[in-house]
Amino acid sequence: MYGGAVRAACVAAALRPFPRDGRQRMMPATMAGGQEVRMATAQKSRIGKNVKLKLRNLYLRFPKNVECNICRWSGRHFNSDEWHPQTVCWKCRSLVRHRLLVETLNRIEGVTWKDLVDGKRVLHFSPERLTTPLLQPRASSYKTADFLRTDTDLQIDLTNMPSVPSGSVDLLLAADVLEHVPDHLQGMREILRVLAPGGTAILTVPQQDNLEKTWGDPSLTDPQDRLRTFGQEDHVRIFGNDMPDLLQSVGFQVRVVDADSFPKDVVQKYVLFPPVLSKHPLATNHRRVFFAKKPEG
Ligand SMILES: [Zn+2]
Repeated sequence: MYGGAVRAACVAAALRPFPRDGRQRMMPATMAGGQEVRMATAQKSRIGKNVKLKLRNLYLRFPKNVECNICRWSGRHFNSDEWHPQTVCWKCRSLVRHRLLVETLNRIEGVTWKDLVDGKRVLHFSPERLTTPLLQPRASSYKTADFLRTDTDLQIDLTNMPSVPSGSVDLLLAADVLEHVPDHLQGMREILRVLAPGGTAILTVPQQDNLEKTWGDPSLTDPQDRLRTFGQEDHVRIFGNDMPDLLQSVGFQVRVVDADSFPKDVVQKYVLFPPVLSKHPLATNHRRVFFAKKPEG
């Protein structure tokens, strides 16, 4: 009897109302104190973080200096990545090359959506999440391809595409693919083969600023060597200013669009050229979009 009363008193003393949410949940005092402090601290820190985030977002949203032509985020400046300051969209993570391509299709005569995409048979090599939704609904047929990925319609090598009949593609898009391919000239020849006469390949490649001649080194197989030499672990070359010559040498008619193709206010608004140049020696500050057309007939 006596022992039971002591036990009951001890239990009662060890329990007290848990006050945070007003409900009278009971928990041991020894636990409640520590946990309460931890919860209060966590909540304070959460509130602090939310306030900071809201203030930062407000700061970034005004004035409307820049706008993403893909997701329409607008604000003071874009985000930065490891190499390129203020060039990455905060919302959709578009880069200069994505926005340059979209703005070209929006407004450069001869290479618009209507000219190249609407009702066309499109083969998209190494498709990207930003560009697929823009192309797919407009094309008459839209297929994706990649050498390594398994989420594409075709698993093929860009330099050897036997499953793609000659002349069966109106538009082939390969953004930042050729720097991964061991034989880039053979890749260009194979693109030419699958295109219909008058068809176009839209190509982009990382290009070291002010590098005249494209160069690669097949003996470099170590990922770290490639990273140091070409800027990424799986790149086998770095392209130079001779990219149009290379495309012409296999039979393409080439048109190059870059930031200089647009009025200054458009370049600044959509950030088609980095507002702050990258200091990385292998960086491509000057992005170009190559429209490689297979001659008619
Ligand atoms: Zn965006």
